[in-house]
Amino acid sequence: MQPLFGRAIEARRAVLTDFLDSGGQALDTGIALFFPSPHSYTGEDVLELQGHGGPAVLQVLLRRCLAVGARLAQPGEFSKRAFLNGKLDLAQAESIADLIEANSEAAARAAMRSLKGEFSREITTLVCELTALRVQIEARIDFPEEDTATDHDPGAAPTLQRLREKLASIQVRCTSGKLLRDAVQVVLIGAPNVGKSSLLNRLAGDEVAIVTEVPGTTRDTVRTEILLDGMAIQLIDTAGLRETQDTVERLGIDRARKVVQEADLLLLVDDAERGKSVDVDWTVAEIPPAAKQIKVLNKIDLVHRQPAQRQLDNVIEIEVSAKTGAGLTLLRSAILETAGRLPEAEGVFLARERHLESLTRAAAHLQNAEGSLGQVDLAADDLRLAQLALCEITGAFNADDLLGEIFSRFCIGK
Ligand code: GDP
Repeated sequence: MQPLFGRAIEARRAVLTDFLDSGGQALDTGIALFFPSPHSYTGEDVLELQGHGGPAVLQVLLRRCLAVGARLAQPGEFSKRAFLNGKLDLAQAESIADLIEANSEAAARAAMRSLKGEFSREITTLVCELTALRVQIEARIDFPEEDTATDHDPGAAPTLQRLREKLASIQVRCTSGKLLRDAVQVVLIGAPNVGKSSLLNRLAGDEVAIVTEVPGTTRDTVRTEILLDGMAIQLIDTAGLRETQDTVERLGIDRARKVVQEADLLLLVDDAERGKSVDVDWTVAEIPPAAKQIKVLNKIDLVHRQPAQRQLDNVIEIEVSAKTGAGLTLLRSAILETAGRLPEAEGVFLARERHLESLTRAAAHLQNAEGSLGQVDLAADDLRLAQLALCEITGAFNADDLLGEIFSRFCIGK
């Protein structure tokens, strides 16, 4: 520190000091913060400098730091070191990147919950209980004379059942977390003139917290991102695609087909003055069978009806007027609910694909174990594999290449 400051910097104090060049001249004046190991973010010695900023002076200062022995950090290197030094587990380290990238308040809160270790704690508790069950079951393999190896412990089945339920509950909350992270794609389809664009404008326009306007090319799908009750939703309008048949238009239709295939939720818009609207649109025939849907009957003002919501066979139908705004509250709640958000956002975790995959694998192994409880060696093996899958989430067991992959996606300096 002597060459850079010409003085010692006290630990954990904000020290106002000159930053010196090689000739002892001040390059800048600012704050130096020194966090000696192990009480720092990474667990190693960390020195933070706060200068006046500005690209030129920052470049000079950076060059000076490199000259006295520092090197540039790789993406995610700080968090990776924190993980390797036991300051954070893997799920917590990932939540730092998620917190920085959060595109809504709900996503930020869920990331913060993971960073505080709530997600890891639930996984760790599950792993501990699983370990206890393994000990109980494996004892029957190691000491079969004390009982018959095929006659399983009567206590094992209810314990396993409880573990499966706990895991299922975590899975539900994680899936929801994933929805928080990636904006939910809500696609409006229906015949021309039923009011898709008006509905989109109404949904977007009434929202005070519009975060971005994503302009489509003139005849492409139009995307608007809104925050609905803290949940990021991308509204995609496929309106106006049928009006002409030139080449550009057809490209637009192809793109709209793709959008429909990838939608999280489809709003099937129709006219309340049924019969006036053109018959079922081409897009309707192409709806993937598993796609979530809400039927929206628009223009109820023209037929003097009040907003309403009814459950058809397996779809909700909502009557609205994009013109007057009637029924829009019903529609918003239905979108939030159908898109998969839990009514109470507490306890939701921002899951990554990696976490969901590990949870699914663990659930499958627990299910297998339940089916083979009569053959303890088979059950024991499945419990072991379930435990490994869960440990991958917190990083208690991880291959080096997986670590490299995770941290390389961080931004530089985190
Ligand atoms: P799209 O082709 O499905 O996108 O339909 P538009 O949003 O362009 O609407 C077609 C026409 O219906 C426009 O003249 C709108 O003003 C009108 N419209 C849309 N929604 C309503 C509504 O709720 N009530 C009434 N009376 N007219 C509406």
